Amino acid sequence: MMKSVRLDHVTKMFGKSIGVHDVDIQINSGEFFTFLGPSGCGKTTTLRIIAGFYFPTKGKVYFDGDDVTGLKPNKRNIGMVFQNYALFPHMTVFENIAFGLEVRKLSKREIKEKVERAQKFVRLEGYGDRKITELSGGQQQRVALARALVIEPDILLLDEPLSNLDAKLRDETRVEIKRLQVELGITTIYVTHDQHEAMAMSDRIMVMNQGKIQQIGTPQEIYNKPVNHFVASFIGETNIIKADVIKVTDTHITVDIGQGTLLTGLRENSSPQLDFEKEKQVILSIRPEMINAGEGTNPLEGIIQLSEFTGMSINYLVKAGDHELKVMIVNAGTEVLGRGDSIKLHIPESGIYFMSE
Ligand code: ATP
Repeated sequence: MMKSVRLDHVTKMFGKSIGVHDVDIQINSGEFFTFLGPSGCGKTTTLRIIAGFYFPTKGKVYFDGDDVTGLKPNKRNIGMVFQNYALFPHMTVFENIAFGLEVRKLSKREIKEKVERAQKFVRLEGYGDRKITELSGGQQQRVALARALVIEPDILLLDEPLSNLDAKLRDETRVEIKRLQVELGITTIYVTHDQHEAMAMSDRIMVMNQGKIQQIGTPQEIYNKPVNHFVASFIGETNIIKADVIKVTDTHITVDIGQGTLLTGLRENSSPQLDFEKEKQVILSIRPEMINAGEGTNPLEGIIQLSEFTGMSINYLVKAGDHELKVMIVNAGTEVLGRGDSIKLHIPESGIYFMSE
């Protein structure tokens, strides 16, 4: 019960406005694949096209090589969980989970067996007779998941399933969903605007903005090798700095970040979209954890504007020349400096990342 999904150059127009533009992806069977991006970027539209709620204006949808572009949702054998769960409040847990099986006209015995197994999967054994209104938010979320899984779908679609839960429950449920997905090996497509969720759960992530794919990759690829400014800033914290290219060799790039301050980084640490032969100006992304206190390569000096102790780390906002740099020092019992203190910083060559836009 797992299928691959292919979107072949899919575009969806709503009248004259673009929902998604030329989305071309292959999601492997058994993969946990996430659509990530800000509100309005086209995540839900793409998911609805896969579910069959929307038909694409252009392009095709394939499940395991079969063209399903024109099929209605109930002909696609997909399980879906929505943000608001869409449960039937007046019905019991059992009746809610059994709904899809009743529609398929299975025998009473089969229904009972399958529903009980699904309840076990989501750890709701013994809750069959409860009304939905008698459940906590987290339990309701698990009923929705059980209802989606009980029909043994080929593909599981999850649209922001954690957004109605409080922070602690969200963390627990995130782990639970991932555990289930790995156990069942089911192809899962997950929609979220939360980069932490996406990073923690996904095999691969598609980052979207304004209806278009920005980048597809593993969490590490997206974090360490963002293709552009948008991806670098959307995933995690970073310092974005405009710089002039001073010197290019086969292995190293030296840039001026203003007032004659030079930084040197590794040429391999750059976006595939950047061509150093053409670009005279580049954009740097330097993650706060890549900047260290003390003396070393790529030295900088600055004055601390803000100082924050989180337990795990010490976070500084440092004014260095024209730049305000976010710096994160792992807490190893080091002294915490305060506002107005001067600080020496350095950045290893591998801590600088080059992009064109
Ligand atoms: P959110 O996280 O806010 O749900 P999203 O990334 O899921 O955002 P979509 O809902 O896919 O974004 O919307 C993509 C674009 O398509 C938006 O500009 C939106 O206004 C537009 N859109 C979506 N559905 C419709 C519709 N039914 N009619 C007209 N425009 C729509």
